[in-house]
Amino acid sequence: MKEIYNITLRIKRYDPDTRKSWVQNYELEAGRILRFTDVFRKINNELDQTLAWNSSCEHAQCGTCAVKVNGKPLLACELLVENAVAYFGTTLFKVEPITIAPVVRDLIVDIEQAYQKVEKIKPYIIEPMQNPNAANEYLIAPRELERYVDATRCINCFCCATVCISSHKSFLGPNAIMASIVRLMDPREKAKKEREALLYSEEGVYRCHTSKACSFVCPKEIDVAHFIALAKSGDLQSDV
Ligand code: SF4
Ligand code: SF4
Repeated sequence: MKEIYNITLRIKRYDPDTRKSWVQNYELEAGRILRFTDVFRKINNELDQTLAWNSSCEHAQCGTCAVKVNGKPLLACELLVENAVAYFGTTLFKVEPITIAPVVRDLIVDIEQAYQKVEKIKPYIIEPMQNPNAANEYLIAPRELERYVDATRCINCFCCATVCISSHKSFLGPNAIMASIVRLMDPREKAKKEREALLYSEEGVYRCHTSKACSFVCPKEIDVAHFIALAKSGDLQSDV
């Protein structure tokens, strides 16, 4: 097994002061289990302090390090050098920002703007259903929870929205749509009509072309397209 790889990162840069955009190659030696966030850090430490990128938890739980590598949106903190070489079959990696909002600098996008669509669907219980078991916490039958619990793993990394062929103009995008679907499947949510009005509106599920690209790229392995298909078929309510 190879311990060190000679890799090249071909990174799309952007300077907001000059509004200049360019592509810059960085050639470096990288250990096989270095993550791409570590590679970015190595570039900052050894080659170029000015390269701007984003990360926070670096445990695949916050989504802030999402970038496109050789066209595929992914979490840079999850991608090991040896896995990248094996998956893409090359040591040359084209790295770009995800395409869900304007670029702020280099690999950093305006995440606040991207979140506007998620905020629009109100990713929380709008109106709580009265708890039938008021003395205790709200109990949800395991079979009912199983129908939507996978979707609750979403970290809003916007990888799905980046590849979505319909994520343009007014479409709310796969992650925002799914966040609303989850609350529609949640027995604790009372405001079903308000949710359905937006979900089945011009901005909603019928903009989806069922390409399933969202499910293919999701780093949390959520079958996003499955949830959207459930909403399209009107099959969100549990029969438990
Ligand atoms: S559904 Fe998956 S790809 Fe989309 S934002 Fe959530 S975690 Fe990211
Ligand atoms: S299945 Fe629908 S939401 Fe998912 S990427 Fe394709 S068009 Fe977008």
